[in-house]
Formats: sequence, C-alpha cells, structure tokens
Amino acid sequence: MTGEQLAAGSGGNYDVIILGGGLAGLTLGLQLKRARPETTIFIAEKRPGPAPEAAFKVGESTVEVSAHYFAEVVGMKDHIEADQLHKAGLRYFFPAGDNTDIAERLEWGVPFFPPNPSYQLDRGRFENELAKRNLDAGVELVQGAFIDTVELGDDEHSVTIVRGGPGGERTTVRGRWIVDSSGRAFLLKRKLGLEQDNGHNVNSAWFRLAGGIDIEDWVDESNTEWFERMKQRGLRRLSTNHLMGQGYWVWLIPLSSGSISIGIVSDERFHPFEQIETLDGALEWLREHEPQLAAIVDSRRDGIEDFLRIKDFSYGCKQVYSADRWALTGEAGPFLDPFYSPGSDFIAVGNTLVTDLVVRDLNGEDVAERTRRHDDLFLRLYKEALTWYEGQYEMWGDPQVMIAKIAANNIMYWSTTGLLFFHHKLADTEFMAEVMPEVERIWALNARLEALFLEWFRMVAQEWRHAYVPTVAFPGMGMRHVELTSNFDDQALKAKLTEDSELMEAVAVAIFHKAASFLPEGAPDPETKINPYAIGLDSDRWEQDGLFKEPGLAIERAHELAPGITNLWVDKIAQPA
Ligand SMILES: Cc1cc2nc3c(=O)[nH]c(=O)nc-3n(C[C@H](O)[C@H](O)[C@H](O)COP(=O)(O)OP(=O)(O)OC[C@H]3O[C@@H](n4cnc5c(N)ncnc54)[C@H](O)[C@@H]3O)c2cc1C
Repeated sequence: MTGEQLAAGSGGNYDVIILGGGLAGLTLGLQLKRARPETTIFIAEKRPGPAPEAAFKVGESTVEVSAHYFAEVVGMKDHIEADQLHKAGLRYFFPAGDNTDIAERLEWGVPFFPPNPSYQLDRGRFENELAKRNLDAGVELVQGAFIDTVELGDDEHSVTIVRGGPGGERTTVRGRWIVDSSGRAFLLKRKLGLEQDNGHNVNSAWFRLAGGIDIEDWVDESNTEWFERMKQRGLRRLSTNHLMGQGYWVWLIPLSSGSISIGIVSDERFHPFEQIETLDGALEWLREHEPQLAAIVDSRRDGIEDFLRIKDFSYGCKQVYSADRWALTGEAGPFLDPFYSPGSDFIAVGNTLVTDLVVRDLNGEDVAERTRRHDDLFLRLYKEALTWYEGQYEMWGDPQVMIAKIAANNIMYWSTTGLLFFHHKLADTEFMAEVMPEVERIWALNARLEALFLEWFRMVAQEWRHAYVPTVAFPGMGMRHVELTSNFDDQALKAKLTEDSELMEAVAVAIFHKAASFLPEGAPDPETKINPYAIGLDSDRWEQDGLFKEPGLAIERAHELAPGITNLWVDKIAQPA
C-alpha cells in the first residue's frame, strides 16, 4: 500500500491507530472489528513481511483466559484447532539431587487434558494468521511501516510512519484514538513518562530446538508407575513443563511447527544475568543446573534455531488508559513474569477494556469516568498478581511450599480474573464495583499467604522425591477451573465470588496450620479459631496481628470447606531426599 493509496482509502483519518502489529495489536484489531464493524482502524507494523515460524517471538504458552480470548473472543478457534497444539496444563518438576533423573523429581500437574482448553502457540504462525484476518476484516494493516513520531492532540492524534528504511517515504495518519501495542519499544510510555520500576529483577534466555523434545523419552520404559500417572502417553510433552530450582525455572514448550521452545528464567540474586547472556553461557548453566536437559541439547546443538535473552524484563506502568483517548496494551504497558504465562492474559484483559472504551466513545458516550475505573482495575490486577513473583523466586525449588502456593495462586486466578473474564464482567463497571469487596478479600488473603510462603520456606526447606501430586487431588482448586465455563447469571456469579472468598479463607487457615506445625512451639490448638487475614509464622506477632480475632476458622472447619487440601501435603506421599 502506498501513501497515496492510504490517503485515498481512508482520507488518512481513522477511528483508531494501533502502534505495532504484534500479538496485542493484531488481536485488538480483530476484537474492535467484531465489536463494531464500521470502526476504521490503522495498524502500523515495522516488520516488512510474514513472520518466520518457530524462531520468532517469545510467549507461546497460553492459560485459560488467553486461550478463551484468542479462540472465542477474537475468533481464532478454527486456526488454533487446525494449526496449533492443545496444551496439557502447567507441569512442574522439583529438584532431586543432581537433576539427572526426571523420574526422581517430585511432579505436580494434571493427569489428563484439563476440561477448559489452553494452547501452545507457534507465535510466527499465529501472528501471520492474525495479520491475514485483520486485512480480511478491513483493517488497514501496513507492514514495513516504522512509526517515527506520535503526536497527541485535543481533537485528533497523528502518527508519522516511514516506509522503505531510514529516509524512506513518510506518511502521516490521523486518528481519534491511539493504542500503543509496540511492545518493548514503549512508544507512548516513553513519550509520556509512564515508566515504573517494580522491584522484581528477573532475567531470561531462550532458544528454539528443531525436532522438539519429549520428556517421557528421558525415563526408562520399565518405570511403569511413572508412566501410569498420566491417563495417556504423550500428555506430558504437551504441557508447559517447568524444571524448578532455587531462584530459577526452565520452560519447555512444544510448538506445532515441530520445534520446542526452551527458556531459562532466573532471579538476578541467585543466577546473575552474565551467566546466561550468551548461548554458550546458557548451555553451561543448563549443564550445571539441568544436566538431563543439557545433555540432549548438547547432542543436538546443530538443531538450535535461535538464541535470545532479556535482562530485568519485569516492569510496571503508571497509567494505561486516558480520557484523552490513548491506551497502552500488551508489553507496552506493565509486564509481570512468565511463570504462569500471564502475558497473553493481560493482552486479553487489556484489549477487552480498551475495546469497551473505544466502542462506547465512538458511539457517542462520555467515557471519562469509565476510563479512570478501567485504568484502576487493570493496574490493580497487575499489582495483585505481582505479589506471586516479587521476591519469591528464592523458594522456587521447594516442592511443599510451591505446591501450596501454586494451588492458592490458581484459586485466586480462576476465582477472580478468570471467572470475571469468562463471564464478560471485567468491563462492566457497575458489576465490578458491587463485587470488588469479595475480590479484595481474595487479594488480601493472597498477600498474607505470599508472605507466609516465604517464611515457611525459610523455616523448613526440604527436598522430596519420587512422588506425583496430581492437581486433581485438591478439588477446591480444580473446580475453580471447571466453573469458568458455568455461565452463571449475575446473582449466581456474586454468590460464587462469596463462596470462593470463603474457600480462600479456609485454604489460608489450612496452609497456616500446616506451616505452623513446623514451628518449635507448634501450631495453635486445633479448636483455636484462626483469622485468615492475620496469618504469619512469627508467633510473637500473633496477638498483635489479631490472629485469634474474628473472623476465625478452626482447622476442622477449614478442612471441611477445602476438602482434599491435605492431599497437597507432600510428607504424606513423597520420600525425603
Ligand atoms: C521471557 C518471556 C517469556 C514469556 N512467555 C510467555 C508465555 O509463555 N505466554 C504468554 O502469554 N506470554 C509470555 N510472555 C509475554 C509475551 O511475550 C508478551 O505478552 C507478548 O509477546 C506481547 O505482545 P505485544 O504485542 O505486546 O508485543 P510484540 O509481540 O513484541 O509486538 C510489538 C510489535 O510492535 C512492533 N513495533 C515496535 N516498534 C515499532 C515501531 N517503531 N514502528 C512500527 N512497529 C513497531 C514490533 O515489530 C512488534 O511486532 C513472555 C515474555 C517474556 C519476556
């Protein structure tokens, strides 16, 4: 498309200009067109042609919210079913000795495909299809268009793009809305001074290996107990496998193009970036920490298709939406941590809130107050989830603490963001205001639990081996996943959120009792009612923190409300190292 054609096609004037045609920008283009087909949209993407498969961007694993968003909200289900992979949940292997035998490592994950699907996406393949569908939907997507300047105006904004390299043809387009989805180019964030450090200092290095890897090939066929843990052979390969250790985890994500994505994510305090910033360094690091994986990669070094790394990749953002009709989405806003693959979830939530604002504004509504509320909600979701990661990588190698943590984190995720997203409620400001007290209860319990997990780890870190903890062992967790697609009406949804807060209270009390049992003075008597909002392992603080004040739950009642939670206590099933 030339500059003249651009001007002829649209008058160079659009309802929405999207800066950057990556995952966030392209899905937003489609979502806006679905929500309001007459919307005129311009997307500028600097990459000139189609993306390569396999060795392209990072961020291939989806979880429930993003899977639902891509498949159903954006309408990519047919493509995903035909050309991408179904994912067998998140799976974790905790350390065992020198990590040379995965069958020795305590495993935590699903034994079957979870009922609500999630997917492993080959990003190049996915973005190429998204680009095609944007063009089909009438979006003016211009590739090979470098965004040079962005000017925000009172009535309209303008963007100047350059095509054909530096000194190339310049074109200026104007728009009512500007959405920055330029990823780590941070076009608007930099311009408006919205950068914010978040104190979570983690690094990553990753590469794609042709031909893939099946971790089930690492285990001898005679180990029937290990294979029979899964309902079907080959399931583990399709999970996002996490090889866990103190201060790090390594991801293994299969791609439909046949390669596998392998990445190290590590906390700077334990594994300085210098150790993994080159391919040689990263492989040496794997040899030391994950030798079973390293041996396979070393034997197939010719199959390594790329190598990328990023230092201190997590950051905040002061504001994401403005009544002056600009918005940030995807990595152009805040970015947390890939441990639970939330990157695409935040694209799903962010794009949904942006779509709500843009469509209402274009339909003539005053969206100033709504913009403020959406901005507040999005940044709260980010900040509450940050507690899962910030300062917490220290305990990443401890199976007992991490299993309790992952269960609690999943309950929070599915009961709050998950349930509300699946029920199309996050953009419903009135409904959100009504249920926010329940959501905040869950967030408050989560914050208390995260502090306790670290205390617990520092008190009793222990290696456990040779066991499988299936996620289904604790129905209180698994059912929150199942209920995502319950199609609750508003009344039922409110009741559900109250029930989920009560479950989370019971979980907090049960975890507190388990952790406190390791204190020299032991846990409080079973009859004592424990205030879940005051839990902690410093017994000198119990009285002053109000641990014995209302609302309180005795342990027996907590176990009644969270049946099966004791199946997460690994000392019942695993062998000590
Ligand atoms: C180590 C790591 C692991 C991750 N793993 C996962 C995961 O498993 N699952 C998950 O969901 N997420 C994951 N993420 C997050 C995921 O990578 C991001 O959420 C996602 O890629 C962000 O998409 P985006 O569209 O915001 O940015 P991008 O996909 O980077 O798109 C930005 C686009 O803007 C274009 N652009 C930039 N500047 C200009 C310019 N001046 N002019 C024109 N175009 C421009 C770029 O070319 C690019 O195409 C991970 C992130 C990291 C760091």
